[in-house]
Amino acid sequence: MPQAAGHGEDHGRTGPTRRAAIPQRRAFLRFAAAAGGATLLSSCTGSDASHSGGGTATGPAAGTTTGGANGAAPSAGASAGGNPVAYSGPARPADWAAVARDLSGPLVRPGEGDYATAKLLFDPRFDGLHPAGIAYCASPHDVATSLAFARRHGLPVAARCGGHSYAGWSSTSGLIVDVTRMAGVSVSGGTAVVGAGTRLIDFYSGLAASGRGVPGGSCPTVGIAGLTLGGGVGVVSRAYGLTSDNVLSMQIVTADGQVRTASPSRNPDLYWACRGGGGGNFGVVTSFTFRTHPVGEIILFFLSWPWSQAGRVIAGWQSWAPHAPDALWSNLHLAAAPGGGTPSIEVGGTYLGSVGGAYAELEKLYAAVGSDPSSPYLESTTWLHAMLVEAGCAPWTVAECHLPTQNPAGRFMRASEYAKSDFFTRPLSSSGIGTLLSGVENLQLVAGAPGGGGGIAFDAMGGAVNRVAPGATAYVHRNALFQAQYTTGWTPGAASAGVANQRAWQRSFWRSMRPYASGQAYQNYIDPDLTNWRQAYYGANYARLKRVKAAHDPDRVFTFPQAI
Ligand SMILES: Cc1cc2nc3c(=O)[nH]c(=O)nc-3n(C[C@H](O)[C@H](O)[C@H](O)COP(=O)(O)OP(=O)(O)OC[C@H]3O[C@@H](n4cnc5c(N)ncnc54)[C@H](O)[C@@H]3O)c2cc1C
Repeated sequence: MPQAAGHGEDHGRTGPTRRAAIPQRRAFLRFAAAAGGATLLSSCTGSDASHSGGGTATGPAAGTTTGGANGAAPSAGASAGGNPVAYSGPARPADWAAVARDLSGPLVRPGEGDYATAKLLFDPRFDGLHPAGIAYCASPHDVATSLAFARRHGLPVAARCGGHSYAGWSSTSGLIVDVTRMAGVSVSGGTAVVGAGTRLIDFYSGLAASGRGVPGGSCPTVGIAGLTLGGGVGVVSRAYGLTSDNVLSMQIVTADGQVRTASPSRNPDLYWACRGGGGGNFGVVTSFTFRTHPVGEIILFFLSWPWSQAGRVIAGWQSWAPHAPDALWSNLHLAAAPGGGTPSIEVGGTYLGSVGGAYAELEKLYAAVGSDPSSPYLESTTWLHAMLVEAGCAPWTVAECHLPTQNPAGRFMRASEYAKSDFFTRPLSSSGIGTLLSGVENLQLVAGAPGGGGGIAFDAMGGAVNRVAPGATAYVHRNALFQAQYTTGWTPGAASAGVANQRAWQRSFWRSMRPYASGQAYQNYIDPDLTNWRQAYYGANYARLKRVKAAHDPDRVFTFPQAI
């Protein structure tokens, strides 16, 4: 039996082996980032200040064939929710000046000092987009004012929170309705009211101050609004469900400018649709009320095996991870880099319980794989520290775990990445495992971009996520064993031919897995390539989502290429 682990200690199976737990984790994260092996965890790895990446690239990467901004204008002069708005022609400078006076938060327009920063999303691929204005709404009233202005002048609208849409659909040629001024966490007993503009690291730290937690994603700068509206998968989802499964109610401004509560008793159709129906569809959410969970110590583990054993690790992991106790969540990550080297395979995860309990569960994985990991690491730590580790920010403070544009202390960097997703409802057969291994290895044959890499990350499902009926909320994917994200990244601003080659590799890899995947895709890993996205994201729930859309946004004020 291993010795009890404490903060910052690094334990092998047979006892402490090394210290410097976090540096080891960050070394993995850096490797993953360098390899472009971006995953739920590693795609959002913070970078050292010396990282050459973020914030400097100009224009979307060449080779980008999809994505890019919601440019469809709402129907001018149309009515929404029974509240007609008269079209008064294109907005003139005087109109912009008038609406700016009406808003309590700032409105930033092209040519103004802050515009170059204000227009940016997380991914430098979208730096070439030029919205006509960014309204930093400080209240639901500001949101209603912005929506009325956009409709009056026929401007396309996009809600924006963390700006992590994989397709850039929180930007627009028209008006961005930014909610980040409505941020903050207020805990009361077992619930928390959270401003819709709160970023994940602030969400976690605000809750942790009261000893509470809500499941969410790993990337610290993802916005709570985008994450929650599309589901929200994170490191304790098997124990506590999706982020959206923990929403008790929300406040939303619909296309008609009305501020509504969506809850089981008020606007229950909106409440249903906004838990998995995807951001940018039904209105602009301004706050959420969440059910919270008490959080104390949490176990983190990271285990790696030599690539030569990858087939056995995949087979062992898939027979173990989805069926483990709810307290155990894990992720299987395979990564490679163009131009050679050896791919890597790692299992990472969390356990809500004792160190001994965690080891007992991990022993089952080792038995299923048929060998011990070559690099085992386990740490018992606080909830907030675990969230910083998962975010790739572990040596930093919460303030540092932001972009420099979000916090003067921020050291986190923007990153470029393409993503595709799958859900798997059956274990991979031996031929599926072979296809998976070849898919990862094929990246090594690609002439990639500087800093290029990629891979696939599987998140274990089951547990609390799958105990919710598929029609109970708009999030339909309740029968998966695991979810996968295929990613490929590069140093922002890198050579376009290499980026295009990596993109082609990713598409071909994803195509090769068609015989094994369920055909469902994760709406939060929104994928402009998908032609059957209605079925893939929403399945049998799409028909009801369309009815909710017709009731609350009949004129499609909120629209983008994959809008309900
Ligand atoms: C690096 C990275 C890491 C990620 N990690 C995870 C993870 O661990 N788990 C997970 O589940 N997902 C993860 N995701 C996916 C993430 O959940 C989605 O991209 C999500 O939509 C991002 O939300 P956002 O607010 O940051 O993005 P935004 O781009 O601001 O918004 C996304 C969509 O929601 C809409 N929207 C934004 N704010 C509002 C609002 N207030 N009201 C209504 N609509 C709104 C936008 O219009 C847009 O359509 C990750 C994504 C990236 C890029």
